[in-house]
Amino acid sequence: MLIRDVRIEGAEPADIRVEDGVFAEVGSLEPKEGEEIVDGGGRLVLPPFVEPHVHLDTCLTAGDPEWNQSGTLFEGIERWAQRKESLSVEDVKARAGKAIRQQVAFGAQAVRSHVDVTDPNLIALRALVELREELADYVTLQLVAFPQEGIESFPNGRALMEKAADLGVDCIGAIPHFEFTREYSVSSLDFACHLAAERGLLMDVHCDEIDDPESHGLETLAARAYELGLGEKVTASHTTAMGSYNAAYFTRLLRLLKLAKINFVANPLVNIHLQGRIDTYPKRRGVTRVKELVEAGLNVSFGYDDIFDPWNPLGTGNQRDVVYAGLYITQMMGYQQICDSYRFITHNPARALGITDSYGIEVGKPANFIILDAETWYDALNWSAPVIGNYRAGKLIAATAPVEREVFF
Ligand SMILES: [Zn+2]
Repeated sequence: MLIRDVRIEGAEPADIRVEDGVFAEVGSLEPKEGEEIVDGGGRLVLPPFVEPHVHLDTCLTAGDPEWNQSGTLFEGIERWAQRKESLSVEDVKARAGKAIRQQVAFGAQAVRSHVDVTDPNLIALRALVELREELADYVTLQLVAFPQEGIESFPNGRALMEKAADLGVDCIGAIPHFEFTREYSVSSLDFACHLAAERGLLMDVHCDEIDDPESHGLETLAARAYELGLGEKVTASHTTAMGSYNAAYFTRLLRLLKLAKINFVANPLVNIHLQGRIDTYPKRRGVTRVKELVEAGLNVSFGYDDIFDPWNPLGTGNQRDVVYAGLYITQMMGYQQICDSYRFITHNPARALGITDSYGIEVGKPANFIILDAETWYDALNWSAPVIGNYRAGKLIAATAPVEREVFF
């Protein structure tokens, strides 16, 4: 197959040849006899989007059985407790499968989902393990053992984490800011880091998702990651308390973060909505220090977090929306920052997920790519350009027709 006249990551127009599911050639190419040709029309081609942080077990449940009327995190937990009663393997698979197809339609091919494992029966995890297998030809699904109600603060919390590891999660999670005490916070991270190291798994921790400037789970996570040599296998998600840390503490912390080389995922859409709720005024923004982390050379990605569930009553899974809002929220609206922002949902999360060996538009790699209905990322972002083709191993797995607007005056 020859894809003609496309701008790879915004570069000058070129052609791409795909053979046997891999990128065979990139450059100015002539069609071979009988070769299938796709006319790119000068459009933008990117490596597929990578969703680094979503909760597929709770997705598509907003309003079922009741709506979150206050919009708060706490009422979200109450609404979820109601919905959780009717959880079944079929229910989780149906909703998560639908959400994944939406994500793929919007350009994703890799998704990391947290899965609540503070459930003695691990229903959601069993469902998502099955789905990971069933959809493997279309999407790379990574699952995180996410202890929503704590490891040390939930009955048999440690045993459930080990059971989740036995069932085949890709990543070990933790939730240090939710544990009963500071001591539990530290010991839960010790436990999680050692479990990940022993089992050779990745880590992704819901870390300091709170406006409390005294929430210091991140320093423990980064120190253990550094000492155990886990570094790039570890992701700290949310870290919203960092938005409340004082400058002296942050400066000290940054040295450790650079040594540890851990990854970060900010969830600007959901955090701007859920954090800062207990403040009167002035009201904090409740988002981690994306700009400062990026400037320090750390790997930062943007996640969707919640898709139409008790914590986010809106949302389709379209990652473009997170970048669009995220740039406003993190005040990264400089021209070059906007041009580079596709990296928050492509190369950066690919690194966090540890999939870079098979990721990117390079000869010899799997022919995974998306074509957007715009010439540049700047325009694609601004106009919410649809992904007109999502190709995996050279095969079209999702398509959206270009939008045509007409004005009658
Ligand atoms: Zn989350």
